Amino acid sequence: MQTRTDIKRNDTVKVITGRDKGKQGRVLRVFPTEGKLLVEHVMMVKKAVKRQQGKTKGGIAEQESRISLSNVMIVCPTCGPVRVAHKMHGDRKERVCKKCGTTLDK
Ligand SMILES: [Zn+2]
Repeated sequence: MQTRTDIKRNDTVKVITGRDKGKQGRVLRVFPTEGKLLVEHVMMVKKAVKRQQGKTKGGIAEQESRISLSNVMIVCPTCGPVRVAHKMHGDRKERVCKKCGTTLDK
């Protein structure tokens, strides 16, 4: 099943609830079937890295983990975190800020 998502890769989102509340970042990946996202520098988890011969030293690295779509809001450049509204341009649907109407599509 595909969850309806108004958030796309490279959008700027703000975390509105949970451990990383208040953090803002760029969307790296969207997982529509799970309703989850990877957001840059959000929900960082430590991960053991195996030593690879001649490459990394091994040890602990930090990487993003998935956050639920419902825990973030898209950020409008003028209003901050907002809900997404849709505007039709012919047969193309554009995502706009619900408050000021600015396009959120790049
Ligand atoms: Zn706005």
